[in-house]
Amino acid sequence: MAETWAQARAVYGPDGVVRDVMTGLYAEQDITILAAFPVYFGGIALNVENPTPASTAPNGIKVRLPGIKSFQLTGEALGYIPSPIPFSEAFTAVQTGVVDGVIGSGAEGYYASFRDVTKTYIPANTHFEVWYMIISDESLAVLNREDLAAMSAKVRAEVWPQVLEDVGSEWGQAILDQVAAASAGFAAELGNATGYDLGLEQNGSYNLQFSEETLAATVAKYKILKEKLGGDYPFEVLGHNALRCEEPTIGPKVVGAILHHQDGHANPLKLLRALADDVRRLGGKVLNGKQVIHVDKPDLFRISCADGTEVRARKLVLSAGLGAMSLGPMLGFKAPIRSQRGQVMITEKLPKLINRPSLIARQRDEGGIQIGATNKQVGLDNGITQPGLSGLAADAIAAFPDLEKAQLVRSWGALRITSPDGLPMYQERTDISGA
Ligand SMILES: Cc1cc2nc3c(=O)[nH]c(=O)nc-3n(C[C@H](O)[C@H](O)[C@H](O)COP(=O)(O)OP(=O)(O)OC[C@H]3O[C@@H](n4cnc5c(N)ncnc54)[C@H](O)[C@@H]3O)c2cc1C
Repeated sequence: MAETWAQARAVYGPDGVVRDVMTGLYAEQDITILAAFPVYFGGIALNVENPTPASTAPNGIKVRLPGIKSFQLTGEALGYIPSPIPFSEAFTAVQTGVVDGVIGSGAEGYYASFRDVTKTYIPANTHFEVWYMIISDESLAVLNREDLAAMSAKVRAEVWPQVLEDVGSEWGQAILDQVAAASAGFAAELGNATGYDLGLEQNGSYNLQFSEETLAATVAKYKILKEKLGGDYPFEVLGHNALRCEEPTIGPKVVGAILHHQDGHANPLKLLRALADDVRRLGGKVLNGKQVIHVDKPDLFRISCADGTEVRARKLVLSAGLGAMSLGPMLGFKAPIRSQRGQVMITEKLPKLINRPSLIARQRDEGGIQIGATNKQVGLDNGITQPGLSGLAADAIAAFPDLEKAQLVRSWGALRITSPDGLPMYQERTDISGA
């Protein structure tokens, strides 16, 4: 089925052909697949030497394999004498010499279960092993967001520490750290593919505070959140002096800050260009300046634009931001989203002034400082206002007095897309496949 991880992802991953078939088979039993978990490429573990491991000529070596016809045929085709034996008996079968080895697992599985009776391992790619994480539709239907949050908090608090201890916390934590840095991996991948340095910095961000009262109140809120997340919400409270060590240009009016270690920022213009370039590099076509006015699905999806352009597609991803308010219902999605205006300002390019970003000001890799943004519900008006910009400038100067002398080069208003619970929406139609 797959010879490489990329092929395996294409076959078993979301929208892969096997994944689609399995989804259909499980659906017949009212079961939903939550995830497919790739395990390993299968191989052969022997308690004897195989003098000709690459040969498929009969070798007289007897191997245990699962009682599944395809494994038996694979074993035979590779020159072995197949002997179907349940997994629970396999170790003893090898240990007592009933068979000389096993087929049916992969390197990691053999290491975990058969290392004491294995002398030779042959990475023959006998199969690709994938496990499905499934849940009954009935159970899934009664779980709401709070239930899921409570379950993941409990797992993080009680199960993860135990698992980490079992696998070796140093090794396991290193992997979890890599998971946290996955977006850095994506930035590197995108940067390498397109030649853009996305200016990604993941050294944390500040929530700057101008009074002891608001600092204490904000810390109290984060403590509650941390508790709800089973402790998995790292932040540090810095008083003025500690903050000054990190940010030497911070102003005297800032009493302290909450430092969120996991935050970061990138250069959004370079990110946008890199994403568009990479789509083209991978064979996609970017149609700019089109306004989609209608979507339906006579057979394939039909996307109709205001200028008469029509695009047909088997799969459709709706990522139109606030445009989902009108386009979502055409696809049967509810889109209970609202706009929220944010005004921002950009300064001329300046020498390094700010190390970490905050909601008040952040310095881009190229030197420009972005000040803001405001938050206001004003419908679809994305204009700027004098009180809005003045308020931003006053806060920025209070936080970083050096900004008093900076020249502004532009300012604008933009609309955030907000949902009722503040969380992003990812949803796939189960009745209309492909949306
Ligand atoms: C002032 C401000 C500050 C922000 N700061 C941050 C921040 O610091 N960190 C952060 O992570 N996020 C921030 N955000 C939020 C972030 O910008 C959005 O969450 C993100 O851009 C949403 O991406 P999206 O692709 O879903 O929607 P969008 O970026 O809105 O993209 C949707 C696209 O669809 C197009 N479109 C809509 N309707 C149609 C149609 N009918 N036909 C064709 N095209 C259509 C739109 O023109 C747009 O190009 C900020 C937002 C604002 C406004």
